[in-house]
Formats: sequence, structure tokens, C-alpha cells
Amino acid sequence: MAQLSDDCFAFGGPLMSVDEAVGLIASRVSAVGETETVALVDADGRILARDITAPLPLPPFTNSAVDGYALPGSELPRDKERAFPVSGRVAAGGAAEQAPPGHAVRIFTGAPMPEGTDTVFMQEDVRVDDSGHVVLPAGLKVGANVRPAGEDIPQGHLALKAGQRLRPQDVALAAAFGFTTLQVIRRIRVAVFSTGDELASPGTPRAAAQLFDSNRFMLIAMLKRLGCEVSDLGILRDEREPLAQALKQVAGRHDLILTTGGVSTGEEDHVKAGVEAVGSLVLWRMAIKPGRPVAMGIIDGVPFIGLPGNPVASFVTFVHVVRPTVLALSGVPATPLVPIPVRAAFTYKKKSGRREYVRATLRQAADGALEAVKFPREGAGLLSSLVDTDGLVELGETVTKVAPGEHVGFLGYANLL
Ligand code: AMP
Ligand code: MG
Repeated sequence: MAQLSDDCFAFGGPLMSVDEAVGLIASRVSAVGETETVALVDADGRILARDITAPLPLPPFTNSAVDGYALPGSELPRDKERAFPVSGRVAAGGAAEQAPPGHAVRIFTGAPMPEGTDTVFMQEDVRVDDSGHVVLPAGLKVGANVRPAGEDIPQGHLALKAGQRLRPQDVALAAAFGFTTLQVIRRIRVAVFSTGDELASPGTPRAAAQLFDSNRFMLIAMLKRLGCEVSDLGILRDEREPLAQALKQVAGRHDLILTTGGVSTGEEDHVKAGVEAVGSLVLWRMAIKPGRPVAMGIIDGVPFIGLPGNPVASFVTFVHVVRPTVLALSGVPATPLVPIPVRAAFTYKKKSGRREYVRATLRQAADGALEAVKFPREGAGLLSSLVDTDGLVELGETVTKVAPGEHVGFLGYANLL
């Protein structure tokens, strides 16, 4: 990876908007640029490294869409039903036979169309008479019930694009082309630490004034959803020197170092001093709520992000700072998160000039419309506010109030990563 300069995350203004943060990350963080080959069964969720153009048409050959009887278009009954002798039978995977003129061919779904035929009568629409002839109704259009070669995807079509995250249906398409492996961007390696003397790891004894570390598990889960390879490095104590050394030690083996907690400017916030001892650091005052200062830095050329400790602030800033960074490291532009319009079922007042996220649950109103119901409390430390809701209502910088019945944009948790 290209080395980042020490001041690359510096920002001039007093408050940084979410869009400025995303833009700065996109322009300063360079892609790791390494790819690897994965088996198709392991490709879901990975980022495709190369464009894929269709090496063959889909379907590869013209075939029947139904079980029935195939005929040349020129012989279809026009005005009234007509009986045809049946000659030949072609099932899926079978070879197409040529029928003598005036004959229908028995055919099944997925079977190649016999030469000269181009139309299939569904078996539900015909009857077989006493002499074994099939009686076909009039009025069927030429070409009916046939899937022409390439109707899905023509050969040479740009079918999958470099930079897209593969979904199950994309993997299916690669399989339909006959690929067994795909070239993908290698996983971004992220080191994750929690910080704070008040934290105990689940599974270890918890002193009276301690709480179990929860952010680390949330962040690791979020990173995994983004396809990262995560090193879980436990809890760093609120002590400058060991913290600094721990961060420096992991820089060589990771593409990104992520911490949570300790980035305010209080005297017990040691992340700032720790990072400055081994690298460089700037604090971003983002115009976002919930969210407090986010620390951005460089340690031995590796980007460092220090998220706030309050769980909800940590969650929201992850979405706007960590997600774009991981995507930039993967060489992918951060696609905008697109809120869906829903109706507010709450009243809300906010300051203009910052973006706010309101934790909300969706419900269907009596008239069928989707309504967002605000979680009753607002604290950034309330993990229950994330657990008991479906997503975030996004209120833009210019909004100052929301009244019940107004339209607001809703981002479901599942769509944030
Ligand atoms: P800090 O940002 O370090 O000042 O922490 C702000 C609040 O978040 C404090 O109440 C911390 O106890 C809490 N907090 C910090 N880190 C974590 C964590 N990893 N898991 C749960 N809560 C945390
Ligand atoms: Mg702390």
C-alpha cells in the first residue's frame, strides 16, 4: 500500500460533515491492490477484482420453456384447432431430433428445440385424440414458450463488474458461465482493540466498577460483514506507553488499526497520546449525532481509526468512517447509503448543520404505510436502543424538526454494511 503522509487526514474546518469525511477518506486511503483466487463456493461476499464478460450466451442453446409439443411457426393452426401426428421425443439434456414436415415433436422443459421448430404448445393446452395425434389449438404466437439462446445474457456482455460485492445470484451467474474460481480483492486485515480500564473481557472476572467489553464484538461482527479478516486484540488499558507499543506492533501485519474508546479530550483519554507517540493523529469533530470526536491517524503508514466508546456513537461512526475506509482499502468507491422513505411517527427537534440518526422501529400503519417509531430514549450508551430497533432514521444537516406524518429516510441495519 502507498504510504500515507502524516497529515493526510488533517481537516481545516471546525466541524466535518459526514460527506466531507467520506470524501477525505476516499481521496487519501489507497487500495491494497492485491487479489486472490477463491473457489466459487467461497466467493459470496467477496469483491470481484476483474470484469467478467459472458464467455457463452445464456441460455447456451435455444430450448423449450415448458413441457409440450414443438412445431415450426409456419405450421401453427391459424383459425381452428388441428391434429398433428407426433414424431420423436426430446427431454432436457437430450439431443434435438428433426421432425418430418407436418409432425409435432414431444418436448420437455429445458430440452433443445428440434431443428426447424420454433414454437412450443404447453401440454396443458392440448389434448391427444384416439388415434394418438395431438390436437393443437389455434392462435398461438410464433416463438411462444421458447427460450432463445442468449435471451438472458448474450455472449460478450459485461455481466459482472470489478469492484462489486458478490451476492449469491452473482455467484450463480459465474457458475452458469462455467467458472470454478473467481479473482477477488484479498480480505482487508483489520486489528481491533478496545480501550478502557473499566472494561473486562467476557469470560474473565469483572470487578465491581467494570463492565463487559461489548463494542469490540460489535465492531468485529461489522468488519466481518464487510468481508474483513479481523485480529481480535483484546483490551488496552488506559496507559499511554503500553497502548502506543501495542498499536505500533500490529501496524506491520494489518491494513487498518481500529480502536474504540479513549478518544475524547479528557485526561483519561489515552488513545490520542498513545497514537502520537508512535505515529500521527488528528481528531475529527464530525457534525454527526450520535458521535463524538473520531480519531484518525497513521502508524507506520497504516491508517488508524479511533472510534468513540459509547456503543451507539461507535456504531454510527463505524458506518460513516470505517466502512468507507475498508472500501477504499479494497479499491471500491463507497456507494452511498440510500434511505428508504417512511412516515415519521414521532416528534423531533434538532440543530441544523449536523446530521442526526434516530434509532427507530418500523411498523405498518392502519393505512398500510410504513411508519418509523422512535426509540423512547436517546442516550448514546444505550445498547438496547440498537438491539430493540430496526434501523436509523437519517435527518440531514438542514433539517431542524420532524413532525408526525412527515416523510423521513430510514436506513435498515441490514443495509448499512
Ligand atoms: P470513552 O469514549 O472511553 O470515554 O467511553 C465512553 C463510554 O463508553 C464509557 O461509559 C465507557 O465505559 C463506554 N465504553 C467504552 N468502551 C466500551 C466498550 N468496548 N464496550 C462497552 N462500553 C464501552
Ligand atoms: Mg475510556
